[in-house]
Order: sequence, then structure tokens, then C-alpha cells
Amino acid sequence: MTGKILKYLIFLILFLTSSNIFDSRDNYISRNEVDMNSFIKDMVSDSIESDTDVIDKYFTEGMSIDDIKSLLTNRPKNIKSTGKYEPIYYDFSNMLHYKDIEVMLYNMNRLDIVNLEQLYKTVDDRYIYGIEIGKGNKVIYIDAGIHAGEVGNTVILMQFLSEILNEYYTGNKDIINKLNNVKLAIIPCINPDGYEIYNFGKKSINNKNLWIYENYDKLNIEHLKSNANGVDINRNFPSQTGGLLFKKEKIMKSVAFDKSTKAGKHFPGYSLGSEQETKSCIYFMLKHYRNMYAYIDMHSQGRVIYNGKPNLSKEFNNLSRKFAKYISSYNKYKVHGLSAEEVGRGNDGTATDFMAELAHDFKFCLKTGRLCSSSYIDNKASLMYNYPVITMETLTTYTRNVELFKTEYYDKKLRDILYDMLDGNFIK
Ligand SMILES: [Zn+2]
Repeated sequence: MTGKILKYLIFLILFLTSSNIFDSRDNYISRNEVDMNSFIKDMVSDSIESDTDVIDKYFTEGMSIDDIKSLLTNRPKNIKSTGKYEPIYYDFSNMLHYKDIEVMLYNMNRLDIVNLEQLYKTVDDRYIYGIEIGKGNKVIYIDAGIHAGEVGNTVILMQFLSEILNEYYTGNKDIINKLNNVKLAIIPCINPDGYEIYNFGKKSINNKNLWIYENYDKLNIEHLKSNANGVDINRNFPSQTGGLLFKKEKIMKSVAFDKSTKAGKHFPGYSLGSEQETKSCIYFMLKHYRNMYAYIDMHSQGRVIYNGKPNLSKEFNNLSRKFAKYISSYNKYKVHGLSAEEVGRGNDGTATDFMAELAHDFKFCLKTGRLCSSSYIDNKASLMYNYPVITMETLTTYTRNVELFKTEYYDKKLRDILYDMLDGNFIK
């Protein structure tokens, strides 16, 4: 009899814990309202990969358990809004300092439709920001500036946000309606140290003990990708693929096992998720992925779009391809096939890898310190959150020429695409 009651109680507990707040996907879930213990329970697993698997496949350490826990529990700061919104008329008139961008963001935060979050602070003393605009449930997530020399998209996003917020401020009904139906979640500049140093040179480095200051004269600044620590943030994500090197695969020439001043050599960090920039992204991604409608990671290397991931579900790859084609129908950027996204050759651990794995509901594994799923290698993971993931490479090369950004925004239709996406109904 006691056994029966016990069984019933266990069943009841399992039932109650499985129907947690995240299950109702139609309702917008704000992490601010979430009980963090249940979030950690939901995001962390300790039994998916064995230690031997890990040693065989990876050349970069995962995140430390303490770091994962602190990331899941330490909430960045919402910035209080003070004062009255001042319309912003920028239109690529000059190259923006990061300080100018901060002034613009703080001004935007004065509108009731905007929530600005101060994420983590970089090693050269600059805050990274996440800005949320809109009241809808569908999240359109865009980030830019992960690579130092790819500064154009930050400026392009600031121009776009200024325009729509000016229109919101002056009562444009169309924009007001749209912003009631979608939510933009944007990190306009993931790598502010890199942004400032690429644009304004050595004098903009505050902390003279940094790797970037000490090695500045040996660096090819025109092709700078890393942060001020010498880490390529776009290899530093604790995805299952992060630092992955399948046995027998040849490692890519572009991989560096230590900090390197050579152009085209990417150092993923001594451990994944080690950088403040990566942590900022992870925080903001975890906050939004369950409500995501689409994700774009903006880079600047030649008007192409990468989409999908070879080891993830067909559904996901089809959806990502559809999204890429939708964008290309406007700007004629070349849409790459899936084969352009290799796995296990040292180019892994990107922002899109991480977001693509979250779409398949991968959890943090405490043993490996990265996202994980046992169904990954067999290509059997199923899509849980229905959003596409693309890398959009704007412009033709690294440049700080604002005239070229302006051309890309107007003539290459980035403006039209961004406006059209506000409908929240663009993947048909
Ligand atoms: Zn890039």
C-alpha cells in the first residue's frame, strides 16, 4: 500500500515539475519573472556525454561550472530611463564613436516601447548593451559587430533603430502597430573594444596591460577580428560544436591554439564562454530564444548568407534556407549551401552554432561545460523552437567608410528588409 502511494506521489511530482512555465510557448516568457532555480534545472544536464567522448573530440575546454551557474543567475542591469526622448537624425553623417552609440541607446531608452539592458563590461572598460524594442511575442533577434573590423552593421542598425523610434515618437500608426506585435532584441555591438580600436586606433585603448595594446604594432588592424584579449568571440561559444575536432579531420588553417597576431588566425580562447562579450550574448540569447521568430548574426565579408547547420534537423535547415532566400530576394546576396557550414574542423563555437543548438533544445552539460545532446552526432536532434538562423555578410570587405554603409543600407536594401521584418510574418 505504502509503495503505491509513494509511486503516486513520485508521478505527481514528475507531472508538476514537467509542466513548468516554459511549456506554454504561446505566452511570452520574460526571464525577469522566472524562478531561477527552475531555469537552472531546465538548462543544465549532467548525464549526456561521457568524459572519454570529450577528450577525443575537443581541442578547447568548455565553460567552468561556476561560470555557467553565475551566467544563469546573475541578471544584468535594466537601465532606468530618465528625461525626454530627442529625435535622432544621423544618416551616416560621420563614423560613430562607441560613446556616441551609448548616448543614442540611452536616449532610445526614454521611450516606453524600449528596454535597454547593460550586459557585461569588457576588459577595456566598455559596457555591452542589449536593446529590446516592441511589445509583441515574436522576437526578431539581430546582433552585429562580433568581429572587430566589421563595424558597418553596428552603424546600420543604429540608423534603422533611430528611424523607427523617431516614427514611433511622432505617432506613426503603422510603426506603433508593428511594434505592438513584434519585439526586436538587438545587440548592436558585441565587441565594443574591437569596434573602437579598429575605427580610432591605439589611442582608444584604455587599459595598457591588454594583449591588444602590447601587440598593437604587430597586428594587421585592417583585418582585426578578435576582442582586446586576442580571442575570436565567434569561436568562443560553448556550443556542442565549440572547439570540436572530429578524429581524423584535418584542422583548418585558420585555427590558432594560442593568441596570434597573424591575420586570419582565430584563437577560440583557452576555454569556451571565457569572454565578457560571449557571456553577454549568451545571457541575451537565453533570455529570448524560446520566443524567437528569427535570428540574424550580421558580419561584413562579401554579401553572402550562410544558413543552417549540417548536423542539425532538416526542418531547421529548410527554415533557415527559406529565410536566407527571403533576404536574398531583396538584396541579391548569394545564398550558400549547407556544405559551406563545416563541422568539426576547428571553425566551430560560433554565435549561430549556439543559437541553432538552442533551437533544438540542447542543455548545458555540467561535465563538458557546453551545450550538449546525445542525438547530435547521429543528426537526430529535433527542432523544438521554430526559428531560422543565418549569418548575413554585408558589404564587400572590412571598411570604416560610412558612405559604403549608407549604400548598403539604402541601395542594397538592408533598410527595406529591416522594415519588412517588422511585420513579423516574413517567413512564408
Ligand atoms: Zn565576421
